Amino acid sequence: MAKLYEVKTSSGKGKGVFATLEIQPGDIVMRDEARMRILDYFNGVSARQIQEALAILSPVHQAEFLQLSEGIKESTFKFANIYRANSFGSGASGADAVVCLKVSRVNHACIPNSELDMQDEGDCKLFATREIKKGEEVLINYCGSGTKAKRQDLLQSHYGFVCQCVTCSLTGEALELSDARRNLYNALLQLINGATRENDMRITSWKAPADRERVPYNFIAARLLEAEGISGTIIGVCYENAAESLLAQIRDLGLKHIIVLPAIKLLIEFFELSIQWRGTTRQADAERLRLSKGYWAALQGTDPHLQKGKKALDSLAALGITTIPSERFALICGADGQFLKFVSQDECLAMVRKERRVTQSE
Ligand SMILES: [Zn+2]
Repeated sequence: MAKLYEVKTSSGKGKGVFATLEIQPGDIVMRDEARMRILDYFNGVSARQIQEALAILSPVHQAEFLQLSEGIKESTFKFANIYRANSFGSGASGADAVVCLKVSRVNHACIPNSELDMQDEGDCKLFATREIKKGEEVLINYCGSGTKAKRQDLLQSHYGFVCQCVTCSLTGEALELSDARRNLYNALLQLINGATRENDMRITSWKAPADRERVPYNFIAARLLEAEGISGTIIGVCYENAAESLLAQIRDLGLKHIIVLPAIKLLIEFFELSIQWRGTTRQADAERLRLSKGYWAALQGTDPHLQKGKKALDSLAALGITTIPSERFALICGADGQFLKFVSQDECLAMVRKERRVTQSE
């Protein structure tokens, strides 16, 4: 396959990687491997350890390494500065640091057009998360999803450059909106997973959220990323989490014969969006996409609740009805699982309450 990129001078950024052909979302732009790996690097490392890691490289790779950017010159040793500026976290704890010589040439943007997929064995693939035009620079994100001030601080203190990407060039209301979306996204991420380094909202205590909370948190997080113009696996993961939490919530309710159609409709939308977003990273993330598709197909084939709900929604759609009518909020099945009737939201709520009272008094 023809090489999709070339390394050449990037205005104000030293060298950069540029597309030599049109690149589609999901295409692998380059394959690389970890040439250097220092275990436990982020917990403190001596210059000697870096020197030893460098010494075992071939002369060609040593020369390539020594041409990389030094970032901020924190150390008196050039090789230590280069290692610091070009390594990224790896390993189970994220404390190991690897350097991939070709990937190190890829510059940063806060809304990038590509994403790195690093395997445990050290193989890595850089894949496009959106269309990249011939001649356009290939860019990845070095600094997460913080606000402009946070990103600039991190980039300047670690890499020694001022980012002038499209997002960092926003001013006034547009910048406020971007920062607000990022603040909210990071706060949601913290609510979902616990502490994140980008969070500006300073939520101090954390309790794992219930499924009923995880659904909106993940959904809003995905929509914020979409609104910010970000693309890639990260959004597919949010929709997938929303779908799985919604499914768990439906199952936990244990109401086998009451099928709430808006919940089923949402569940289908979340699964389809997650597959759609994972599809934009189809080559690099092919295995995960195959699993997602397989899981979703299996679920539709085996979950009677979902099957009935989907059938009812399909029959409404066949009549050209895409908004669920209020009198068809839920469908009720008999003990044998056969369709009995549609009920409104009020009737459905009354049935759920009654059901719960029966369950609780048993
Ligand atoms: Zn930027």
